[in-house]
Amino acid sequence: MYTYTQIYDVLVIGGGHAGVEAAGAAARMGAKTLLVTHNIETIGIMSCNPAIGGLGKTHLVKEVDALDGYMARAADAAAIHKRVLNTSKGVAVQAVRSQSCRELYRQAIRKMVESTPGLDIFQAEVADLVIENDKVCGVMTKDGMKIHSKATVLTTGTFLAGKIHIGNVSTSGGRSGDASSELLAHCLGKVFSIGRLKTGTPPRIAVDSLDLSKMEIQSSELDAPDMSYMSKPQDIPQRHCYITHTNKTSHEIIKRYMSESPIFQKRTELMGPRYCPSIEQKVDRFPDKETHQIFVEPEGLISREVYPNGISTSLPFEAQVQFVQTIKGFENARITRPGYAIAYGYFDPRGLKSSLETKQIDCLFFAGQINGTTGYEEAAAQGIMAGINAALTVSGKPTWKVERSQGYIGVLIDDLVTNGTIEPYRMFTSRAEFRLILRCDNAHYRLTEEGYKLGVVTEGRFKAFKEAQQNKTQAWAFLLEQKVKSFPSLLADYPKDAVKRLVDWAKQPGHSVDVLLKHNVIDEKAYAAFKEAMVEAHYEGYIEKQKVQIKRMQSATDMKIPKGFNYREVKGLSSEILEKLEAILPSDLGQAGRISGVTPSALSLLAIYIRKLAA
Ligand code: FAD
Repeated sequence: MYTYTQIYDVLVIGGGHAGVEAAGAAARMGAKTLLVTHNIETIGIMSCNPAIGGLGKTHLVKEVDALDGYMARAADAAAIHKRVLNTSKGVAVQAVRSQSCRELYRQAIRKMVESTPGLDIFQAEVADLVIENDKVCGVMTKDGMKIHSKATVLTTGTFLAGKIHIGNVSTSGGRSGDASSELLAHCLGKVFSIGRLKTGTPPRIAVDSLDLSKMEIQSSELDAPDMSYMSKPQDIPQRHCYITHTNKTSHEIIKRYMSESPIFQKRTELMGPRYCPSIEQKVDRFPDKETHQIFVEPEGLISREVYPNGISTSLPFEAQVQFVQTIKGFENARITRPGYAIAYGYFDPRGLKSSLETKQIDCLFFAGQINGTTGYEEAAAQGIMAGINAALTVSGKPTWKVERSQGYIGVLIDDLVTNGTIEPYRMFTSRAEFRLILRCDNAHYRLTEEGYKLGVVTEGRFKAFKEAQQNKTQAWAFLLEQKVKSFPSLLADYPKDAVKRLVDWAKQPGHSVDVLLKHNVIDEKAYAAFKEAMVEAHYEGYIEKQKVQIKRMQSATDMKIPKGFNYREVKGLSSEILEKLEAILPSDLGQAGRISGVTPSALSLLAIYIRKLAA
């Protein structure tokens, strides 16, 4: 047996979206880090749709970026089509969705990983964890190599005992083209209880076989903002997306083959992502709907394949060919890769602390799809937090968490560790209580300074942040000092507002930063700072109200529950509540209150008892 002589501070297993962020964060914090993954060529690969962002998800990407993570910069380096979503709604819930060239995205991640100081990569399959006295000390690879580490982060995605289903055919696989992790799944199963979830993907189609002229064009929005505030303008060729629909004939074929779908045969009675159902599930659930929309998305600049978003399926291949060819513009469609469903092992995240360290084994952290989530963004958000906390743990410092009032990352992790999940969890803006405060445009104000103090944010990023902060302060001062009448061109369009300060003018609907630019009140260089200041001015009253709510909530729920607290000594708790509190071991009353079934009266019993203990 070969033993790696070096003892790494942090070992990260998996080179997906969680793994690269975990490894990058730990290395930026000065931890000697090794990323071990099946295949170095697949580091940063997108297993499913080639796109980053979307409602709720963009907020996570911006927060990962604010902590100097890779995802937003890679998305900008690979963006071949961008759209701003939810433009009819308030700015707090708007989001950019960036279609990526799959290959450019992978290359951008690989380049950033390989140029991060203190981060080594190694290609191997991890077969087991080395655990001594309930503490992880490293891993064993399939080839019998032992790698020592002080902390280990597992980010194995959909690979744990992954099983791919296409109609009646089931094969082992972590995703199409990659082997699953059977040995590791078996070994983890001896220590932890591992559940099963599933997800699916549509067939890919050769673009040359499609008649795009029959479909509606969706052009890229060239003025859509970048994902990262560190990105410089890039000249990447843009590609159209196209829209088409299924029809009655497609649905008849799907119904005819329904009995051969692994889902309807009950061969995989597993929960899939509720908001990404397969086409057979949509046809079954909405029998009166005659069409379902399909977004035909480019896979990249060089690739000649498209991703038909909306027809994820695990029907037999012949059914896929038949129903696909009934779709307008798809009459001669040639499938390059079949659609499939994948069932995989996941860990109940209620077994994790807020730091993402397991409660059972010290120094072992889990992040990404292994914790029951779905999506690249959710994985990256957990990855960066697991990497930060693994690095803090090995240097003997207290771990860090993002509060729910501080970021969507906090909402995501708190939801997972408090209530677990029985279906793949994805982020939505509706999951956050304080949406006006948790906006995409202010993620760096919420997290970068704290990230810098922790050491995860590099000097270059912090300098850029400080400049942005200074520009915004100046923009605010300008809005407070200047009146509409000082700008003749603006005054001409808004004569009734003549004596108003710009800050008061900005509070009215439609009075945007673009109007200030049009009337030469500001120039292009000041645009970003004024945009941020104007959003704050517009929502000032509501934001203040939300801050008061947060303070009130914090004072009521900040009370820490002491380590080793004996819930059985608290008189009056029902056995159901007692069981839940003992299983989850919440860190404070706020988290206890978010456990489903824990009542306000149970919380006040806890508060009284904790105060009594402290007296
Ligand atoms: P992954 O990206 O899966 O990365 C896991 C990494 O771990 C890989 O690099 C792998 O090689 C490595 N690894 C695993 N085991 C070992 C081991 N034993 N030793 C060494 N390395 C190991 N998301 C959506 O948002 N919407 C969707 O519709 C959607 N559909 C999907 C459909 C399919 C078929 C698949 C496979 C995924 C889908 N996803 C979807 C999920 C998305 O791909 C994941 O959420 C995301 O990739 C999770 O990131 P991760 O880092 O947790 O894991």
